[in-house]
Amino acid sequence: RAKEDGRGTHRFFEREMDQQVQRRREMELDLRRAFASSEFELHYQPLIDVASDKISGFEALLRWPHPEKGMISPAEFIPLAEEIGLIVPLGEWVLRDACNEAAKWPSEIKVAVNLSPVQFRSRNLVQVVISALANSGLAPKRLELEITESVFLAETEANLAILHQLRELGVSISLDDFGTGYSSLSYLRSFPFDKIKIDRSFVKDLAKRSDCGAIVRAISGLGRSLNITTTAEGVETTEQLDWLRAEGCNEVQGFLFSGARPAAEVGQLLFRFGARASRAA
Ligand code: C2E
Ligand code: MG
Ligand code: MG
Ligand code: MG
Repeated sequence: RAKEDGRGTHRFFEREMDQQVQRRREMELDLRRAFASSEFELHYQPLIDVASDKISGFEALLRWPHPEKGMISPAEFIPLAEEIGLIVPLGEWVLRDACNEAAKWPSEIKVAVNLSPVQFRSRNLVQVVISALANSGLAPKRLELEITESVFLAETEANLAILHQLRELGVSISLDDFGTGYSSLSYLRSFPFDKIKIDRSFVKDLAKRSDCGAIVRAISGLGRSLNITTTAEGVETTEQLDWLRAEGCNEVQGFLFSGARPAAEVGQLLFRFGARASRAA
């Protein structure tokens, strides 16, 4: 009896596995089809300068309005796009589209673009950035590239060299999702980041948990002493905003201001919040 139950369970898992493989294969084909038919969109979320309460830039965030399944979150499709290598051409499209869009905005407004570690492996990342800037006419100082520390997990030396080349172009480099990795602090020593983005998980429980407060305070202080801008992600309440302001966080991003909106709404957002005037020299 027990033996039979075991075999039954085994068969059940096999069936589950087949279904998973099947689903993955379908999504893979769907992703390739979507890319080929230009189904992806970029939406833009404002980054708010805390001192002036105005917009300093926008983060470009991928959106997949699926014809049958509705909006699919990047958290769902980016891992697979990375696995099948589609993130390389998709990421190139993101860079070009974001630069073209930002070139139409007021000249003090920046655009932030997320980069996948897989794009670093593609080897022509620097060339792609040079070309996206040249074709759009966007000034390099208006482009911020966001990476996570996963970029340092493999091929560290090669990737550091690429980061240095990117910075030499005049673009800035942000360390995204700071605090969620394994040894974030050591990365601050290996590369001169322009910005640290404090992960949403620490901002979320600021008011409720004193440890989150302590961590955010420590990261802001670190940014201040290393002369790195600190941006808090996922700001949803005025309570969090007041807290972050008091701790000297430079920039905030979150639903309290706005979620990511289609490119056509950037003008309205700038009108609503105002554009931060360029800092006087
Ligand atoms: P991320 O770069 O850390 O982007 C911030 C995420 O937080 C976005 O999720 C944004 O919509 C969300 N968010 C912003 N404010 C709030 C808030 O107040 N509350 C909550 N709950 N969430 C907030 P999204 O758009 O789903 O993107 C998820 C991740 O997908 C991004 O995290 C980024 O790692 C990745 N991603 C998005 N677009 C791209 C892209 O073009 N290329 C690559 N390689 N990755 C991308
Ligand atoms: Mg990001
Ligand atoms: Mg982030
Ligand atoms: Mg994040």
